[in-house]
Amino acid sequence: MTTHAKTAAQRLSTPVQYLKGVGPRRGKLLERLALGTAADVLFYFPRDYQDLTEILGIDELVEGHPASVAGTVEDVDLRTTQNGQSILGVLVRQEDEFLRAVWFNQPFLHQRFSVGQRVLLSGKPRLRGGRWEMAHPQVQPLDDQDAPASGQLLPVYGLTEGISQQQMRRIVQNMLDEFTPLLEETFDDAFRKTHRLWPIEEAVRQIHFPENAENLAGARRRFVYQELFLLQLAIAAQRHTLVSGRQATPLPTSTRIDARICRLLPFELTGDQKRAIAEISDDMARDVPMHRLLQGEVGSGKTMVALYAALLAVVHGHQAALMAPTEVLAQQHAETIGRFLTHSQVRIARLTGSLTAAGRRQCLEEIAAGKVDLIIGTQAVVQESVRFHKLGLVVIDEQHKFGVRQRAVLKQAGPSPHYLIMTATPIPRTVTMTIFGDLDVSVLRESPPGRQVVHTYLATEEQRDAWWDFFRRKLREGRQGFVITPLVEESSSVETANLEATFEELSNDALDGFRLAMLHGRMTSAEKAAIMEEFRGGRIQVLVATTVVEVGVDVPNATLMTIEGGNRFGLSQLHQLRGRIARGSQPGFCCVFADAISDEGQRRLEAFVSTNDGFRLAEIDLELRGPGDLLGLRQHGVPPLRIADLVRDRETLEEARHDATQLIQIDPGLRNVEHQRLRRMLLHRYGRVLELGHVG
Ligand code: ADP
Ligand code: MG
Repeated sequence: MTTHAKTAAQRLSTPVQYLKGVGPRRGKLLERLALGTAADVLFYFPRDYQDLTEILGIDELVEGHPASVAGTVEDVDLRTTQNGQSILGVLVRQEDEFLRAVWFNQPFLHQRFSVGQRVLLSGKPRLRGGRWEMAHPQVQPLDDQDAPASGQLLPVYGLTEGISQQQMRRIVQNMLDEFTPLLEETFDDAFRKTHRLWPIEEAVRQIHFPENAENLAGARRRFVYQELFLLQLAIAAQRHTLVSGRQATPLPTSTRIDARICRLLPFELTGDQKRAIAEISDDMARDVPMHRLLQGEVGSGKTMVALYAALLAVVHGHQAALMAPTEVLAQQHAETIGRFLTHSQVRIARLTGSLTAAGRRQCLEEIAAGKVDLIIGTQAVVQESVRFHKLGLVVIDEQHKFGVRQRAVLKQAGPSPHYLIMTATPIPRTVTMTIFGDLDVSVLRESPPGRQVVHTYLATEEQRDAWWDFFRRKLREGRQGFVITPLVEESSSVETANLEATFEELSNDALDGFRLAMLHGRMTSAEKAAIMEEFRGGRIQVLVATTVVEVGVDVPNATLMTIEGGNRFGLSQLHQLRGRIARGSQPGFCCVFADAISDEGQRRLEAFVSTNDGFRLAEIDLELRGPGDLLGLRQHGVPPLRIADLVRDRETLEEARHDATQLIQIDPGLRNVEHQRLRRMLLHRYGRVLELGHVG
């Protein structure tokens, strides 16, 4: 074998410094972008495109509408402000019109401009003091001889200092001809045809230098599909691992059992509750473990559904475990459920961190001996060391803990229990399919009857006095309320200081004479519990709190909420906070104040006051935040999506999910010869984070 007969794979692994136009110095810079090899560069997709078809005259610009403008550099001005910010201003002239381009804190960019140079600027124009301005536009030098020959759409790459957009474009363009033919196709011809996917070679070329918008869409679709398909394959494979080969004891319902259980419940179930219960009962009747997610907003009646499922297990002589994320919630569940079951023979055990050593030992013994039916506790404690006698169902209440998906593994020999996971955070469907894609989903949309509305207002500083007037009047009428202090990102100590200041101020001023208390995350759980008890009993009228009140507080008499610095909270967080009031017979009133508001912040707050529908808000939130925040996937250990966007690519996601599920049904371990490449890609990308037992 001769040394120069390299395989395609070896050639694709060529270190970047040997690529045309790179060399050792730029090679180092590219490594900062995690570009080590030729293949890395091929798959370093543009983060945006500069559209040369949209070139406008300055007099044709429309505020806020992206456009490109060609002109001559008249002036380059680099300034440093008093607080150390640098501002680079480049004045561009087009006949008698001017446009100023500005960059903040990128002083090194000034080297790219010289007076008299012809440039094309692309960005969002804004009118500032009667003059057009673009902040951080894309720049294309028009007289650059080396500018890549191209179509109407130029790639815009993420850069690092020392490499310009021009250079990056050239590096990529120079290597495409040589390296794209070496790429191995992921999908066979038939698959590509059925799913309308471009061949990889053409797709890579067109995603870097698209001839037109249509080609770009075609190229992009191929990679979006590929990315989502792989992700959904991983999810389908994981689900297969969860379910395959696991036996569960069927715990079927019947008309008689249903009647027995419903007799214990204090009210008529809502339509949504009935539907969810029917889905759960179907699952539990099967001999494979249920893995179902129950989604419903706070107050939508999930506990009732979980209780039904638990009783179904108990009726069959099995145990059920209900696990809450915190001590407070575990206690709350135990109390509520205890009340419903006073007249039943169901034996309940509380298993939380506050038990004494002896109490705990006794409790564990009773569980192991089958002397209790329903175990209610915190996740930590129940997961730790409990031996169950005959566990039929596990309910995991995740509550607000969106993004932190707990994988409960309970020790038990023999059949697997059925699993029901509950989340109170409404999650957009595309996200559910991704993060909870291995679970079946039931949703509670409607609230139980008699549920009160919360009237929400976005108030200005001038309306503050009027709001506090109203707040005091309601307190005198016997209501209770919350004041939520702004979220501070830096540290919880700053947050506490903030809270203390607000507390002081309110005690001496707006809420002088009322009984106030503070609640924050730095208190011990005993301190928090004591204060909550006082609040529940009405001895405290107003809780001045940080976001800790998000965690499942249920005080029916609390109907008032003031949110300070509302712009600093996420939309779903605001909604969760609001969910703490109006849980009794009286309507709620929530007033939001904001400090500096950005455009996005403004839209977020407007959305918040416009609807009480958490699922709708979750969709809006996803749209507003855009593809940037990748949905906490990272927290799940899943690598972030590189090209797919869960708002924009919703249909492709549905399609990929359908196809992946089908493929895993046919070939669960991806053992067929024609699936080998998919299998390798899957293990490479997701093998470490997902438990792809049978694929590995
Ligand atoms: P979640 O756990 O979803 O936050 P809960 O199960 O705690 O909600 O229910 C919220 C409130 O609604 C509780 O006070 C509960 O007793 C009540 N509730 C639940 N289901 C019904 C129903 N079908 N009819 C009337 N009230 C209900
Ligand atoms: Mg609940």
